[in-house]
Amino acid sequence: MDTVAMKTKLTLSVDRNLLKEAKSRAAKRHLTLSGLIDEFLAFFTRPQLYCFKCGGIYDVETSKVCPKCEWSICPRCQTCKCQLGEEASKVAFHMRKVYENLVGGRLMLEGEINRIARAAQLPPKTKTDEGIL
Ligand SMILES: [Zn+2]
Ligand SMILES: [Zn+2]
Repeated sequence: MDTVAMKTKLTLSVDRNLLKEAKSRAAKRHLTLSGLIDEFLAFFTRPQLYCFKCGGIYDVETSKVCPKCEWSICPRCQTCKCQLGEEASKVAFHMRKVYENLVGGRLMLEGEINRIARAAQLPPKTKTDEGIL
């Protein structure tokens, strides 16, 4: 990062027992709750994925979406779900579920968000045209 991160205080309400367990686990691993929450918020705000094919990391929101499988396309090797075999795409699907549960829903891509927003404002007959990008 080329800018110095400004820190600010944050007050949260969380499950008392969970907090106790989390503090204990964090201490054992020499981590701080602030650091963990920072990491989580960074992922939530700017989600990044590792490509299941080449292992490269990329921003979910700026990546292109395959119109066929609707998965993000790795900008390095151009792989989406279409290039994965059935078993591999099953594994990828369920691994991605872990992320999605963490961020409270499906990883939304910038293009996908815009498409949904546009579709919501347009009459139904143009919705099918939207699918052909
Ligand atoms: Zn890749
Ligand atoms: Zn695809």
